[in-house]
Amino acid sequence: MITVDCSYALAIKDKLLVHVADSLKALPILKHDKFLLDSLDDAKIDKLDVIKAIEGFLESANLRKNFQIIPKGNTIRVEPLDGADMKENLDKISDVNRNPFFECTHCGFMTQYEEELRTHRLIHYI
Ligand SMILES: [Zn+2]
Repeated sequence: MITVDCSYALAIKDKLLVHVADSLKALPILKHDKFLLDSLDDAKIDKLDVIKAIEGFLESANLRKNFQIIPKGNTIRVEPLDGADMKENLDKISDVNRNPFFECTHCGFMTQYEEELRTHRLIHYI
């Protein structure tokens, strides 16, 4: 189990969680400002893969130069650096963030795709 510590990177925590859990096919468990990653099957989660996924997220959000990734034991800390354009780039992802999810009112299942939610909802009507 790997812990990703976002105490200093709360602005990107939610998006980061979704991206990392998705690319690793891992189960994220939220714990205050951190999230834990547990594998869905018995395969062990590789710390390097988590770091790679975090890097991938930062790059896609144009924030690679604004954050540093600090691995320590089974914890990976994401910390902000004072980089140029940081605020601008953060504003950009929170714009996208404003309504990223469709949520199932029955069970809280969340998805970015309306179509997927519609399909998901069917399981509640069987
Ligand atoms: Zn549901």
